[in-house]
Amino acid sequence: MMRASAPVDVYFVRSRASNLEFCFPRNAPPPMEGTMPRGKRWRPSDEDDDLIFAVCHKFLYQVGKTCEPDAAGSSSSGDSDASDDSGKPVKTKETARRGAAAAVAEWLKEEWDRPDLNRERIYPLFWEAVRRNLLFLQPPPEKALAIQLRKAYNLGDYEGEIHVVNARNEIESNHLNTFTADLVHSLIAKVSKAKESKWRPSGEGDEEADAIKVHLGMGAGYAAAQVAKRLADRLRSDPKHPTLVLHALSSGGFLVNDPHKAPVTYFSYFSEFGSNTKGTIEYVALYSQTVVNDQEYKQLQLNPGIRKSFEQKTEIDIVISSLADGKHKHGLLVQYLNHLVSEGELDISVLENMRKAGWCGDVQFRPYSETGPLLEECPVRAVTLFEINELVEMAKKDDRYVVIVAGPCGECGEPKVDAIHPLLKQKTLRLWTHFVTDAQTARRLLQHVDEENRLAHYEESERSASKQNDADQNDADADDNAAATR
Ligand SMILES: [Zn+2]
Repeated sequence: MMRASAPVDVYFVRSRASNLEFCFPRNAPPPMEGTMPRGKRWRPSDEDDDLIFAVCHKFLYQVGKTCEPDAAGSSSSGDSDASDDSGKPVKTKETARRGAAAAVAEWLKEEWDRPDLNRERIYPLFWEAVRRNLLFLQPPPEKALAIQLRKAYNLGDYEGEIHVVNARNEIESNHLNTFTADLVHSLIAKVSKAKESKWRPSGEGDEEADAIKVHLGMGAGYAAAQVAKRLADRLRSDPKHPTLVLHALSSGGFLVNDPHKAPVTYFSYFSEFGSNTKGTIEYVALYSQTVVNDQEYKQLQLNPGIRKSFEQKTEIDIVISSLADGKHKHGLLVQYLNHLVSEGELDISVLENMRKAGWCGDVQFRPYSETGPLLEECPVRAVTLFEINELVEMAKKDDRYVVIVAGPCGECGEPKVDAIHPLLKQKTLRLWTHFVTDAQTARRLLQHVDEENRLAHYEESERSASKQNDADQNDADADDNAAATR
């Protein structure tokens, strides 16, 4: 026989903070608002993004305040409670000395009506922010090294910016790429602001939207892919970002087993943008053969699908690209040409001719020597939106930006000194408005300039000595002649 259970006398309370109703037995004491259970058990993952972000912002602000030198009695732990005789928290200037977590808990109680989020719950909220990619670390800039590079390369009048990032364990941590992405993020805001201020209403809504979009051209390669990843994270947490149009600068990497280095593959990082941001993301891909020969190249640009991508390149505001070392085994162009040689599709002599012509690096698969772009010597033509000289011209314009990320090889960590050196030295190769490199590469570049200067000085002394010898010899000959005449 089934026994009917006794009816339970319950009542419901709606939480103002979570807008959920909770059920309590009538004989239990009424819960305080905020201390009621939020579901079965409180979990930081149940909290909204805005609260988690606010907690992190406040926590870091409080930590900063606690660490200020004039914060009397500042605690190294940053988490010591303070209270008056009655046990109530002190709210005067002593607050600055109080523990960061305790101060944030107090603030949540007052401003968010969440007394349940006590001091112990602040840290889980912080880790939750890390899990949700809401916290970004910025590596420290090496301003002194950037100034030394400008000086060494006589860049006094050149308006382009050099940034040196103090990042160790580069391959692991990717700090250089994250710094570059943050730089691009700030350039996006700059371009957007300038476009909005220039735009004049015409009554055509679509026209307005098109005029204020920001266009990014993204190159191929490991570094560019990492920059894209971080940039997508930054934009996802930036509700004010404008509508972005991402252009693929080239159709991809060369090798079929290396597709992750192609721009269209890392466009997918931007695919999760929702309606919580001001702008959206649009794409202009470039679908073509990766490389063709010179004769095919002009014909290829007329192909309807490819022509559209080329026509839209004039709209690109910011180009992001890395570069490769022409002598280094992990460069994409080097790998591809070696692959063609090993397959018997390219004669080794062509590769040797490129070396003889001084091939030291490539940007967007377009090779250059120490003195300028190599046009005729390269046997293959990469299908890419910009030639080197076009990037140089773009970098001269006030409202266009070319960001070059020039860190070590993403696969083995080798600095690309020989490839970077001409981009800083030669005016015909100054295709950048923003040049980002790491401290190790910067020091190697300074060494390189130093050695070059010493060699030049030595050669100059040799020439002077030789001239002096010739002059002395001439004087001696003249004396001999005069003596003979007498
Ligand atoms: Zn390498």
